[in-house]
Amino acid sequence: MSRFLAPEYKNIAPYTPGEQPQSGSFIKLNTNESPFPPSPAVVRAVCEQAATLRLYPDPECRELNKTMAAAFGVGADQMIMGNGSDEILAFIFQAFCPGGAAFPDITYGFYRVWAQLYGVKTKVLPLRPDFTICLDDYRGLSETLFIANPNAPTGIALEPEAIIALAKEKPERLIVVDEAYVDFGAKSCLPYINGYDNLLVVQTFSKSRNLAGGRVAFAAGDKALIDDLNRIKFSFHPYNLSRLSQYAGIAAVKDRDYFIECTSKIRLTRENTARELKSLGFEMTDSKANFLFARHPKLTGLELYTKLRERGVLVRHFGTVRIEDYVRITVGSDAEMDSLIKAVKAII
Ligand code: PMP
Repeated sequence: MSRFLAPEYKNIAPYTPGEQPQSGSFIKLNTNESPFPPSPAVVRAVCEQAATLRLYPDPECRELNKTMAAAFGVGADQMIMGNGSDEILAFIFQAFCPGGAAFPDITYGFYRVWAQLYGVKTKVLPLRPDFTICLDDYRGLSETLFIANPNAPTGIALEPEAIIALAKEKPERLIVVDEAYVDFGAKSCLPYINGYDNLLVVQTFSKSRNLAGGRVAFAAGDKALIDDLNRIKFSFHPYNLSRLSQYAGIAAVKDRDYFIECTSKIRLTRENTARELKSLGFEMTDSKANFLFARHPKLTGLELYTKLRERGVLVRHFGTVRIEDYVRITVGSDAEMDSLIKAVKAII
């Protein structure tokens, strides 16, 4: 640490992203990327746009915004684009948490980091022993609520109606629904943004549109909320999405058939893998995401992670209380899942 760092950042515990090995020899099931390439239309669009890189991108992302808004059935002024949903969530913590933030003890680990970064007070509420969220615990709270739906790393989904009941109960409190994994079998709160101006829905193209490296995401909500987020964005980095990201996003959202094909395959593979793992003695949550959250009674999470790694399979292990026995396994291709099962059989 240099002597120049502002004191408020000295104690920050930064987020640790999943490992990105530089050699291609691992079967990579640790960061919830898609096993499939982006749509061929995305590849074409990016190649075409490479020749225009001398120009700055459109800071307002107008074409992307218009295409996305039409595809998701919301107004263009009800959406803001982000360089991944991490950027948008950071803006939200910065902009909308003057009274603090509330979220579950087991959820996306970055929420705590943003809270620290922006000096936001947190209220952390334990999940039930079965890892479901008890929404009743959030009733009456005045903090901004952050709900990952499906939750991470459990994959357990809530019905949108249950979340909306909270929005209805206290209109003066903002609810942020992080729908990073919604396309793998959960239901979105997007249809409710017209009725509730205290609801902000965040989605990403990193998982279900095979674009983790493209960094494309959006938040959708009442125009006033979006205006506020633009205020933050234009005070920080107007060109937040590169030209390549914008055109990749446009092509991805237009290729709906490919999106359906890829997400359907992942859902099917998830169910098949879950069945096989259960037959080998694993216990797991009912995941509606592109990952499984599983433990084996004979092995600790760390042992499982380490032994799989020795066999060339990377999964994610969180050394956090309550979930240290678990590993999170991204749903890959069928062939990758076969290798996983083979490795698991050898280990147990
Ligand atoms: N929300 C959740 C729940 C996540 O798991 C992730 C992925 N790490 C993100 C948001 C951020 O994803 P991205 O920045 O790639 O959109």
